[in-house]
Amino acid sequence: MTTPIAEGSSTVAANHVLVLNSGSSSVKYQLLDMSDRSRLAVGLVERIGEETSRLVHTPLAGSDAESRERIGPIADHEAALKAAAEELAADGLGLDSPALAAIGHRVVHGGLRFTEPVVIDDEVLKEIERLVPVAPLHNPANIVGIRTAQALRPDLPQVAVFDTAFHTTMPEYAARYAIDVETADAHRIRRYGFHGTSHAYVSRKAAELLGRTPEEVNVIVLHLGNGASASAVAGGRCVETSMGLTPLEGLVMGTRSGDIDPAVTFHLKRVAGMSTDEIDVLLNKKSGLVGLCGDNDMREIRRRIDEGDERAALAFDIYVHRLKKYIGAYSAVLGRVDAVVFTAGVGENSAPVREAAIAGLEEFGLAVDADLNAARSGAPRLISPDHARVAVAVVPTDEELEIAVQTFALIGQAHN
Ligand code: AMP
Repeated sequence: MTTPIAEGSSTVAANHVLVLNSGSSSVKYQLLDMSDRSRLAVGLVERIGEETSRLVHTPLAGSDAESRERIGPIADHEAALKAAAEELAADGLGLDSPALAAIGHRVVHGGLRFTEPVVIDDEVLKEIERLVPVAPLHNPANIVGIRTAQALRPDLPQVAVFDTAFHTTMPEYAARYAIDVETADAHRIRRYGFHGTSHAYVSRKAAELLGRTPEEVNVIVLHLGNGASASAVAGGRCVETSMGLTPLEGLVMGTRSGDIDPAVTFHLKRVAGMSTDEIDVLLNKKSGLVGLCGDNDMREIRRRIDEGDERAALAFDIYVHRLKKYIGAYSAVLGRVDAVVFTAGVGENSAPVREAAIAGLEEFGLAVDADLNAARSGAPRLISPDHARVAVAVVPTDEELEIAVQTFALIGQAHN
């Protein structure tokens, strides 16, 4: 699917998609060539608004993929995107390139309205703004990213790909909290789920690895990064996921608590005298692995465990125990499980986490082969023994590629 653009006497195929992931103080970007799905450049602008902003740009199209770095104040998202555009232009891939077909934006919260990616127009942008009360930490930065990109290339299709979209197929009984219905509906309180782009991509790739179509398989995906979430995917449709109204619910994460008794928050307010904002910071930034042992990097935690550190060992056990509970729960939800799939930073790289999470689940048909689990590879792979009833797999996630694929497919449809 290519969009031909006439440039002088020649025709340039507009095959490139720029993917933007705008956070509150950072912008990550990747430029992809959709004719072969290769990456042309990747970059990150961080600490936006500080004196020590940092841009790292890595061109990947040529043979010498040497990163370029800029350190110095980058005032806002507009300046960040302009700086990124300058770096791309230095490689001959600027935002004015006729090869650029569209910009795909990661948007965290699409509510119930956005079940698919959409081309962004004023009405879509208004709806993303209306969702700010349920995603106060994420959607505002995504909106700034969209507005800035629109200002730089007003003529170019901009597409929003939502983290929540894949989970909108969850049945009502999985998506609703058991609280007063009127209160919940008045404030749009329900379980939305996040990391949907990753769960969609990884569950599809897992089916491919099993030599089946997504419709034929039931899969449990464990996205274990600094943020972590599980999903149960039945025949290609998400039926349950561990994150809820916000990304705080569910698994133990790098800095988030995951599931706790909600009364802990009242207790912290009434007895410990903490403010709502302080509790928010405690549960989102100072909990999870970092709260339990002071480190959120699984490599460091494993190193400490090897040195006999008991706090690190307990943090690891709590992390794995929660994972195991979700594998059991989602096995029950799905009835039949064809594969349990590990992805993201921890899931792709930590053999000890995979081994510990699956240990003792033989009755569920689950087992891990020690050699396959220990082998390092960037490719999707099985780590269960041949005879295992349920496959255990590692599938590297690629949210940027998935955003680019969805963006390109959508604008291809729009042009056809
Ligand atoms: P992500 O959010 O997917 O980028 O994952 C980041 C997390 O992955 C880090 O905080 C580490 O805990 C973990 N991680 C990255 N590389 C490794 C590794 N080689 N071994 C174990 N954990 C890793």
